[in-house]
Formats: sequence, C-alpha cells, structure tokens
Amino acid sequence: MPHSSTRRLAHLLGSRGVQVREDEIARVESADGGVAVVFAGGERLRRRALFVHPTLRQASPLAERLGCAMTEDGAIGVSAFGQTSVTGVYAAGDAARPEGLPFPAAQVVIAAAQGATAAIALDRELLLAELGVADPVGV
Ligand SMILES: Cc1cc2nc3c(=O)[nH]c(=O)nc-3n(C[C@H](O)[C@H](O)[C@H](O)COP(=O)(O)OP(=O)(O)OC[C@H]3O[C@@H](n4cnc5c(N)ncnc54)[C@H](O)[C@@H]3O)c2cc1C
Repeated sequence: MPHSSTRRLAHLLGSRGVQVREDEIARVESADGGVAVVFAGGERLRRRALFVHPTLRQASPLAERLGCAMTEDGAIGVSAFGQTSVTGVYAAGDAARPEGLPFPAAQVVIAAAQGATAAIALDRELLLAELGVADPVGV
C-alpha cells in the first residue's frame, strides 16, 4: 500500500472486522441472486451485494473544448448557479463541481437540484440579455 492514509484506513477497517484484500479482480459475475467477485488468481468470492466507488471522468470532451475551466480531478468548475468560466455555458450534475465543494458529491438529488438551479440562472441570463439590462446581482 503506497500511502500511509490508505494503511490507516485498512487498519481502521480491520479493527471493525472488515477484511481488506488487494488482489486483482478479474471480473464480477451475478450468482444466485447475489454476486461473485472473481479474482485474477481464479478464486470466487460470493457476496449478497457489492458497493462500488467508481472514479468519475468526463464522458464528453465538450466542456474542455469550449474552454471551460476544469478542477484538478477533471470536473467542470462551476459557480453555485452552474455558471462555468465561459459566459453562457452552464453545467450541472456529476460532470460539474460547484466552487467551494471540495469533494465530488454524486447523487441523483444533488444533480437534479444543480440542473434546476442552472436552468433558472440560464433563463434569467437570457431574459436580462434580451431586455438589455445589466445583471443587478452578478450571477
Ligand atoms: C453504480 C452507481 C450507483 C449509484 N447509486 C446511487 C444511489 O443509490 N443514489 C443516488 O442518489 N445516486 C447514485 N448514483 C449517482 C447518480 O447515478 C448520479 O449522481 C446521477 O445519475 C448524476 O446525474 P447526471 O445527470 O449528472 O449524470 P448521468 O445520470 O450520468 O447522465 C448523463 C447522461 O449524459 C449522457 N451522455 C454522456 N456523454 C454524452 C454525449 N457525448 N452526448 C450525449 N449524451 C451523453 C449519458 O448517456 C447519460 O445519459 C450512483 C451512480 C453509480 C455509477
């Protein structure tokens, strides 16, 4: 294990009776209503369910191509209202990370709320532009 924080986590889990295995996983199969983890060495470990912690990455290069500023871990940086660093371009959900949020928060309810907020902000921006009025708040 390369990082001391990872070692500490393994120790913490071990102290709670959770076995930590670092063997390479070849695949995961469904097995009698549950799952089976098949290790590269061929061993099959049956479990009722599996929790996964996927690494998020952009499915599309669109935001980067448009010149949107990205966070260090590859999310589209947005304001609390979903505004990216490019005027008129908004983003929400797993692809985006509101400023001040130091970690990814991938949940349906959060993605939906961010999408609704971005839609309101975008609608407002378009209306103000059509009226030729400067944004009094500066979203
Ligand atoms: C295994 C797993 C389990 C999860 N369990 C939960 C849970 O229990 N509760 C919970 O709240 N959240 C859960 N989540 C997280 C939740 O699914 C996401 O936070 C949520 O779906 C994010 O919504 P989104 O609209 O931002 O992205 P998505 O739901 O990923 O939607 C993005 C859409 O864009 C489409 N797309 C991608 N690229 C392109 C392209 N180039 N052109 C056109 N379309 C494109 C994709 O096909 C997709 O339909 C889970 C996620 C995973 C992976």
